[in-house]
Amino acid sequence: MKETKNTKVRAVEHVVRAQATSDGAGVQLLRTIGTPTLDHVDPFLLLDEFRSEDGADYVGGFPDHPHRGFETVTYMLAGRMRHRDHSGNEGVLRPGSVQWMTAGRGIVHSEMPEQEEGLMHGFQLWVNLPAELKLMEPRYQDIPPEEVPEVRAGQATVRIVAGTFAGVEGPVRGVVTKPTYLDVHLPRGARFEHELPADDAAFVYVYEGGLIAGEAVVPPNALGQLGPGERIDLEAGADARFLLISASPIGEPVARYGPFVMNTQAELAEAFADYQAGRLGVR
Ligand code: MN
Repeated sequence: MKETKNTKVRAVEHVVRAQATSDGAGVQLLRTIGTPTLDHVDPFLLLDEFRSEDGADYVGGFPDHPHRGFETVTYMLAGRMRHRDHSGNEGVLRPGSVQWMTAGRGIVHSEMPEQEEGLMHGFQLWVNLPAELKLMEPRYQDIPPEEVPEVRAGQATVRIVAGTFAGVEGPVRGVVTKPTYLDVHLPRGARFEHELPADDAAFVYVYEGGLIAGEAVVPPNALGQLGPGERIDLEAGADARFLLISASPIGEPVARYGPFVMNTQAELAEAFADYQAGRLGVR
């Protein structure tokens, strides 16, 4: 007999609709975290969705730019994107693949589309690093699509990028904030239940259809910030595709300026000076 668990369901406390913005060399984006409405959800600093069949929305890509002090996570659903950094690391992200890049002390890289037309669809998430790891050696986890497990649970189909779902562990390893990153397809009317660590900060991002969580409705291209509790219990109001993302908060001051996220203004100034002097990421 299944043990009865007296656990609290996490409510959707805030629904934040994506803001249309552009970044890089004119790439059109839908941003939910990293906006005046929602600066960050510790440890998450930014969440962008890019989705277009019109090359004009993405061909400019993201030419050479720096990062320091956090991790960038790119998850592709459609299209191909080439990344290349200052020390010669290079690779192509293709549909279903994931890049978990720990910028640490710094990298300078480009992220450029490998196509001029056709659907490009994916997400970039920024995850903070604690002070003691902000200047760590840069590190990549480049995960091909076949290494991202897909699990059926009830009516849900779940791709596990990071964390554990239904006893299956995702491929991302050794991230200090212990993230969960699930890509869930839930048909209309179906329910999705999952337990997350009670201390995690958690949200859902709906990229198709809609979710119902108690009194709250999360429409497409919106983020539902999840409150305290041990588990989530969601229903698909319409055939839904969404990300469920959580991780341990870091609880430190956030000082951010563009591609640099540190703890203090002085550290930001140092990052900027290092970049200007060509020292970023150089040993
Ligand atoms: Mn970048």
